[in-house]
This record gives sequence, structure tokens and C-alpha cells, in this order.
Amino acid sequence: PQPIVAIVGRPNVGKSTLFNRLVGKRVALVDDRPGVTRDRRVGDAQLLGLEFQIMDTAGFEDEDPASLPGRMRRQTEAAVREADVALFLIDAREGVTPLDEEIGRWLRAEDTPVIVAANKAEGRQGESGRLEAFSLGLGEPIALSAEHGEGLVDLFESLRPFV
Ligand code: GDP
Ligand code: MG
Repeated sequence: PQPIVAIVGRPNVGKSTLFNRLVGKRVALVDDRPGVTRDRRVGDAQLLGLEFQIMDTAGFEDEDPASLPGRMRRQTEAAVREADVALFLIDAREGVTPLDEEIGRWLRAEDTPVIVAANKAEGRQGESGRLEAFSLGLGEPIALSAEHGEGLVDLFESLRPFV
């Protein structure tokens, strides 16, 4: 089986945008198992010749915010435990938020390797957000723009040891 990369992070950081970019035109599969895996999407990803399965931890964006943290934690942890590597997205423009810090704490407690990516860092914007993400204690962050397709070589270099 192909290695699995799980995209994790709080809502609105660009997880699904990155998923769609890496899956390209291929059809994403919808996992219809009940519970925490209900909204998970898995697809075949290609990145500069690397091939892997990519998992988008999605589906809580439209739900009652009061129920968000518990569900997000369960989804994130379940995805990360299945994955060979977790890709933890933050929003480079907003910098590290309290929820990012909390997710970072969950991820540091797991055995799965983590790559931190500061997304929405197109152009030269977002470098301060990338540097701020060092504070998550999960290694050197990369800068990415899922929407504009920037930073993909750095993503490739970061993922290559794990996939
Ligand atoms: P998710 O909730 O983490 O899955 O985030 P989405 O992929 O749904 O994206 C949330 C919003 O951020 C959307 O309006 C996207 O168009 C926008 N977005 C995603 N990636 C980028 C990026 O690289 N740059 C900018 N400027 N916006 C982005
Ligand atoms: Mg999404």
C-alpha cells in the first residue's frame, strides 16, 4: 500500500485547497463510515513524481462551533495515527493562534512525524508566520501557498523521507 499523508489543522487554513491541488483532477473518495471518520476524504496524490495517499481531515467547518474542539481532536488524532506523516497547516498571515498551539500539543504527543507548513504564504508574504511556527516545537516550518501552487518543491523535500 502507498504511504499516507494526513493534512491536519484548524478550519480555514487551506487543508482542502491543498488536498485538491495534490489530488488534481482525480476523484476524491468519500469515506462513509460513521463517527469521527465520517467526513474524511482520501485521494491519490502526486507531487513532482512522489506518489502517496492524501487524507483531508474535513467536515467540521459548518458545524456548531461549541462541538468543534472535541470532534476536531478525535478526527485529527485518528488521522494522524493512520498516517505515515502528518502535514500540519497553519495560516501564515494570521500566525500561530491558540488553537494551532493546542493542535501542536496533540501532535507532539503522537509518534507520527509532523511537517509544519505555513500556508497562504504566496509571494514573500507569510515569512513572519513561517518563522512564528517554529514556536510549535515541531521542527522547521515550510512556507506554502496551496492556492497559488508555491512552495511545492519545499513540500516535496520535506515529504520525501517519509513517503
Ligand atoms: P480548510 O478549512 O482548512 O479545508 O481550508 P480551505 O481549503 O477550505 O480554505 C479556506 C480559505 O482559504 C478558502 O477561501 C481558500 O480559498 C483560502 N486559501 C487556501 N489556500 C490558500 C492560499 O494558499 N493562499 C490564500 N491567499 N488563500 C488560501
Ligand atoms: Mg476543508
